[in-house]
Amino acid sequence: MTNKIVVLGFPRIGEKRELKTALENYWKGNIPLNELESVASELRLKHWIFQRNAGIETVAVNDFSFYDNTLDLMIALGAEPERFRDITNATQRYFTMARGDDTHIAMEMTKWFNTNYHYIVPELGMNFIFGTVCANKILGEYREAKANGFIGAIQLIGPITFLGLSKCSDDVALALFDKLLEQYSNLLDEMVALDENIEIVMHEPFLSTGADAGQLSLVKIAYKRLGTLSQNLSVATYFEHSCEATAVLVHTPIKGLILDFVHGVKNSESLELLGKSDKHVTVGIVDGRNVWKNNLEQSLKTLEHIETYIPKERLSIGTSCSLLHVPYTLKHEENLEVNVQELLAFAQEKLGELSLLGKAFFAHEKIAFPSHPKSTVDEVVQSRLNTLSPNDFKRSHPYAVRQMSACDAFDLPPLPTTTIGSFPQTAEVRALRQEFKKGLISKEIYDEAMKNRIASCVAFQESIDLDVLVHGEFERNDMVEYFGEQLSGFAFSQNGWVQSYGSRCVKPPLLYGDVSRPRAMTVEWSTYAQSLTDRPMKGMLTGPVTILNWSFVRDDQPRSLTATQIALAIRDEVDDLQRAGIKMIQVDEAAFKEGYPLRRENRAEYEKWALNSFLLSTAVADKDTQIHTHMCYSEFTDIIKTIEAMDADVISIETSRSGNRLLRIFKESGYTQEVGPGVYDIHSPRIPSVEEMKNQIHALLEVLPASQLWINPDCGLKTRGWSETEAALKNMVEATKVVRVTL
Ligand code: GLN
Ligand code: ZN
Repeated sequence: MTNKIVVLGFPRIGEKRELKTALENYWKGNIPLNELESVASELRLKHWIFQRNAGIETVAVNDFSFYDNTLDLMIALGAEPERFRDITNATQRYFTMARGDDTHIAMEMTKWFNTNYHYIVPELGMNFIFGTVCANKILGEYREAKANGFIGAIQLIGPITFLGLSKCSDDVALALFDKLLEQYSNLLDEMVALDENIEIVMHEPFLSTGADAGQLSLVKIAYKRLGTLSQNLSVATYFEHSCEATAVLVHTPIKGLILDFVHGVKNSESLELLGKSDKHVTVGIVDGRNVWKNNLEQSLKTLEHIETYIPKERLSIGTSCSLLHVPYTLKHEENLEVNVQELLAFAQEKLGELSLLGKAFFAHEKIAFPSHPKSTVDEVVQSRLNTLSPNDFKRSHPYAVRQMSACDAFDLPPLPTTTIGSFPQTAEVRALRQEFKKGLISKEIYDEAMKNRIASCVAFQESIDLDVLVHGEFERNDMVEYFGEQLSGFAFSQNGWVQSYGSRCVKPPLLYGDVSRPRAMTVEWSTYAQSLTDRPMKGMLTGPVTILNWSFVRDDQPRSLTATQIALAIRDEVDDLQRAGIKMIQVDEAAFKEGYPLRRENRAEYEKWALNSFLLSTAVADKDTQIHTHMCYSEFTDIIKTIEAMDADVISIETSRSGNRLLRIFKESGYTQEVGPGVYDIHSPRIPSVEEMKNQIHALLEVLPASQLWINPDCGLKTRGWSETEAALKNMVEATKVVRVTL
């Protein structure tokens, strides 16, 4: 019997983030390992029961992890880095790889494709030596499911993706490939030895990024071999289509393919080929990485269309990817407005959707689907969108003119010093905000307290002689949430947590409707701060692309259109700020690069609308308003032209860890505007000396002229303590002064 409904994974963190609590308690030494393990088993069992209740016959197994599935896989494959092998206790070794300790630096973590989940990057090199494989965790969970009456489908990251994730060079990948495949084969042998019908799902999202000929030949070799070892092995791809790989995979002995028809609609171009093959096809039709209800009517039509190519006996339906990327349940949401609540489906509700679709499609039950809810339309926003003209995306004066007027207006010394915006968010500041949110203190008291923080922050900046000041962002918990809370079209769940990495969860805003700005959001704080000083005060805003990329975004219209709406709201804020006398305005695009599409061929389109959104939000600035932007990256090679087109008067970037290598990209591209390459790393509490920063500034001057350079830390200071912040900034200003006299 074949499983008709398939789930590629369930959120493991728990309904009330039980796993987070247990993990953190275990790390603190408050609970023993067996208590952590029993929390984990309870969670797994609960999630399997949910799946069975939705009509799923083969439940997802090995989707669970104490930290990260890629890390688990390293252990299974005997691919732990050499440098951790001195730790004899396996559990201790596992968590040390993830988190580091006094003698081991933690392994690198990076984003899982275009999601906000972070995986641990395998450390592979030319002469990497694999240890023995270890299937204990995988088989343990499989047996656990069985003991509870469930048949498990083992979820495992596949070899092509494993190599892709490790970011190793093609040479290394080729050199290690045979051995890696042998490790996978050994692992599979152990699984098949336990049960010859064991179902295995190989996750190969890397194939959705557009595999080249070399990679495709590896796909062929890998799955010819692995597909022979197990009669029940499928390959899953997601986040995009994977047509190139499908064309190869249909000629391998695997049993089936699991394809994303939500984010990879182009997979439909493979339907004919799939139809002619003998493969089983699982249609990923319920969005595993967004929070909105499925349009069941429409999904049923898609399935019926697919059925014209592939007979029903060879079809299943499923989530587009693991449900790891969405919150757990809507059950505990009590504060959402009805019109927002009715748009949503979290992980548990998505299981319900699959179940309904399964009944309608496979069992031909006549189901009257509830009508698909629509987001509310804001006529004012719509009419503004209709009247946009090309001039709205262009500053009124060219950079050269703006620069001259800035020169007169601000009268800054060469190498002006500034910061990126936030100052330390102390426990005390956070407590104040919490009390205010809970209604425990009045707005008057809260405002007064915040103003005190601003005043002392301004006084400090003046005392160390910084040239361009900021108010410190004490009123902000998070650079996106702060704006989302004040804009129409956004809602915030109470429990909409998703795992970001390890025990860390985030609760992204729900961008559900037309976006507008009922009132100014930052003007009061910025003008108050400006009133305290004669030096320029930067207004601080988060850019439209970053707001978009860090939210769950409505899926009933193109993202580009939603970005345009946000841009209009930010534009109004820029205008209000400049009218109120704030003449330097920083529009942060920390997450600009995060929205890059997985496939190269889609990048140009993204760049175009993302750029336009930034331009729309900033082009309202007058000739004498200086626009700054900030980006948290050190990889600009491929986007430097886009950065240039953003036409910001000043851009600050995260270079401190890559020295002036990055700056050369600006020089080589002929970038003319001003750049503030971070001169020290704010991610560490270390206080760089005057000497060190002086050398750093000299190094920058070897690449770009003083007239083009600003001096600043490489990101906001909110995660730092006050004492190190004071010391580091003092040294930074002093180093700048020492260099200035040599100019
Ligand atoms: N202005 C923001 C801050 O200083 C920028 C944060 C960021 O780049 N992530 O906190
Ligand atoms: Zn930053």
